Amino acid sequence: MAIQCVFCKIIEGTIPAHRIYEDLDVIAFLDINQTTPGHALVIPKTHYDHFLNTPKILMNQVMNVAQRIGQAQMQMLHAKGVNILSNALQPAGQSVMHFHVHVIPRFGPHDQLKIEMLHNSQKANMDLPMLVNQLKSGMHEK
Ligand code: AMP
Ligand code: ZN
Repeated sequence: MAIQCVFCKIIEGTIPAHRIYEDLDVIAFLDINQTTPGHALVIPKTHYDHFLNTPKILMNQVMNVAQRIGQAQMQMLHAKGVNILSNALQPAGQSVMHFHVHVIPRFGPHDQLKIEMLHNSQKANMDLPMLVNQLKSGMHEK
């Protein structure tokens, strides 16, 4: 556990949280900032800083729980869709450095949350085959 980590403190129970799910390796609880009602976070109990350095088996367990919470948001909260999101590192918007997956129920165009992917006007200048080659050679084993 990381001593200053707010999510580790939730795991050990020194900070309260509205817990939705818990097993040996994973817990899920409501995000303190409910962007939409039911916004949940799923985290491994072992501290890893972010998505990119979390062991795959643990990540699979986290994603399994994220999927089940998304299904519950559809079934029980009558969500019309779900955003699954993990910000990795500060430039990507990560503020708590303990790997987590956001599971955000969506209720339609007026649900107060906007996640927008803008078209990149620079695309014409990009060397797409080179990008593919770089990414292929940077991928590690399964
Ligand atoms: P991120 O910005 O992707 O790192 O997300 C971190 C999330 O953790 C934010 O959405 C915060 O609202 C949430 N958060 C921070 N502290 C707490 C807390 N004590 N309990 C529940 N959620 C929290
Ligand atoms: Zn932690």
